[in-house]
Amino acid sequence: MNNKGLLIIYSVFRVGKGTIMKEMLKKEDNFRLSVSATTRAPRPGEVNGREYYFISKEEFEEMIKNDEFFEYAQYSDNYYGTPKKPVEEMLEKGLDVFLEIEVQGGLQMMDKRPDALSIFIVPPSLEELESRLRGRNTETEEVIEKRLSAVEFEKQFVPKYDVKVVNDKVEDAVNQVIDIVKKEKEKRNN
Ligand code: 5GP
Repeated sequence: MNNKGLLIIYSVFRVGKGTIMKEMLKKEDNFRLSVSATTRAPRPGEVNGREYYFISKEEFEEMIKNDEFFEYAQYSDNYYGTPKKPVEEMLEKGLDVFLEIEVQGGLQMMDKRPDALSIFIVPPSLEELESRLRGRNTETEEVIEKRLSAVEFEKQFVPKYDVKVVNDKVEDAVNQVIDIVKKEKEKRNN
């Protein structure tokens, strides 16, 4: 019997920002979200150490040199990476840790940690994704086009993930992910 937490690689075609994740963290005491480091600037409302560790490019490159990341990737001209230490510590305590990362990082993590469970959250269809994106009315046409072409690229990697969850209704997707994680833990702990 092993009481370590489960490591979960979690990727999503980013549209509704983190809604499923937020709900899961509210519902499940044992779930934690890994806080990544990034070189991008904080958005309004984001707090250092909560959404991300906001660090400089020099600091990021120093951490790469010191092998402090599980994985890192360049995405939209910025670095994003998962610091190893806090994740290891949470797993040791038996907590289930989600890495909410894009696909390049997801694939690196699958290689490094084949014990991790990988989950991809997908929209019911790409048309639906496009209409959600346009429906928000907050993005310029250029940003929408960029996101859609990123999705086109990323979608080829979805089959590499262990499980695909369709985000039709948020509540259903939340319950599905919780159920998948619990079943996986039961399977491994028996
Ligand atoms: P945003 O800038 O919108 O917060 O995030 C942009 C993308 O970076 C998202 O797809 C997010 O999942 C991904 N991301 C966040 N943290 C990490 C990380 O530590 N590693 C990798 N590879 N991607 C990350």
